Amino acid sequence: MSVCSSDRFSMANLAVFVGKTVNGVAKLHTEILKDSLFKTAYRYYPEKFQNKTNGITQRRWLMLCNRELSELIDDTIGKDWRNDISLLGGLNGRISDITDRFVQVKAEKRKQLFEYVKQHEGIEIPDHFIVYSQVKRLHEYKRQLMTAFAILEIYKGLKDGTIKNFQPSVFLFGAKSAPSYKRAKAIIKLINEIARKLNSDKDTNGLLKVVFVQNYNVSYAEKIVAGTDVSLQVSTAGLEASGTGNMKFMMNGAVTCGTMDGANIEIVELAGRENNYIFGAEVDEIERLKREGYDPLKLIETNPLHRYAVSALVDGTIPDDGTECFKDLYDALTVGAAWHKPDHYFILQDLQSYVEALLKINADSRDKTAFATKQLKNTANSAFFSSDRTIKEYASDIWGICL
Ligand SMILES: *Cc1c(COP(=O)(O)O)cnc(C)c1O
Repeated sequence: MSVCSSDRFSMANLAVFVGKTVNGVAKLHTEILKDSLFKTAYRYYPEKFQNKTNGITQRRWLMLCNRELSELIDDTIGKDWRNDISLLGGLNGRISDITDRFVQVKAEKRKQLFEYVKQHEGIEIPDHFIVYSQVKRLHEYKRQLMTAFAILEIYKGLKDGTIKNFQPSVFLFGAKSAPSYKRAKAIIKLINEIARKLNSDKDTNGLLKVVFVQNYNVSYAEKIVAGTDVSLQVSTAGLEASGTGNMKFMMNGAVTCGTMDGANIEIVELAGRENNYIFGAEVDEIERLKREGYDPLKLIETNPLHRYAVSALVDGTIPDDGTECFKDLYDALTVGAAWHKPDHYFILQDLQSYVEALLKINADSRDKTAFATKQLKNTANSAFFSSDRTIKEYASDIWGICL
């Protein structure tokens, strides 16, 4: 609990001490704060620790960015949801009536997104491509690198014919790096180089494309969120406090392909695990691996696809223009660094189940009505993630003001 000791000043402990309340911003993270990070402080001040799960505003992230879906909702349950988001749940009883129109709305928003991407990136994506998106700050814990490996493995499977009946898909990335975060910049370069290679491979580019958009920001996010089919939320379990991008996608009717982390847990609790795609190690498993030992090298050696993807960093498959920046990513996974063990975000641990989840989604998307039903279940159960609810909870439980 010490705020100041001989060699250390703790801003976190200071914040807990002076703060009236402490919020972990999603259920899982508030529990992690209570049982590990601030365990002792929790014994002294149990009443300080209160969860208020984050939210997003439906004015921007549904009504403004997706007029077409908003109008479909108006036509189905009336317009009152626009002033009282809790009414959105009324959609649940009407899903089978509106799947066809929803498929049309999604197609229209996808088309608008592709038009915007063509204008801004000069890359054309055919209208029938399914959209998988990972858009968020670039950070190792968010594991954009794991998605890059998954794409390489799918590419290999398409190339050698082991993956069949693959629905044409685009993987869309958007992210900025902190100015001095070298590895993050290397990952941005890696994904751009993978995009260059795959988009120009005539054997596969009718099935698989990759786009890393430039200058990802809220305006770009509004288009991506509305036009996406699959929301990639794949952080190492225990590290994403909440996430809010996950909520924006859910509200716009994307299924989540993600780990049991942050608000993903509450998303699948509300929309149904069967309507989303959860994979990978959970917090307990990650903790166990940290305690009992974790050997990514063994996973690389015993899995030929992992070996292909990881080796691509250093064997010339994906060139780095002689900068050796991919070698640094390779070393981080295989030998570690002075300040961390090899693969400390457990990419190799979760990679196989990630690829399986991505392929399962791809196969499920062939049944348009069944897939639209899953997507609509997400929209219909997203009212909880309105920031109106979050702010009401703050007002009543923390600020003590009536609303
Ligand atoms: C919502 C949003 C984020 C947060 O995304 P996460 O996936 O929760 O990290 C970051 N950047 C932009 C532009 C956003 O709109």
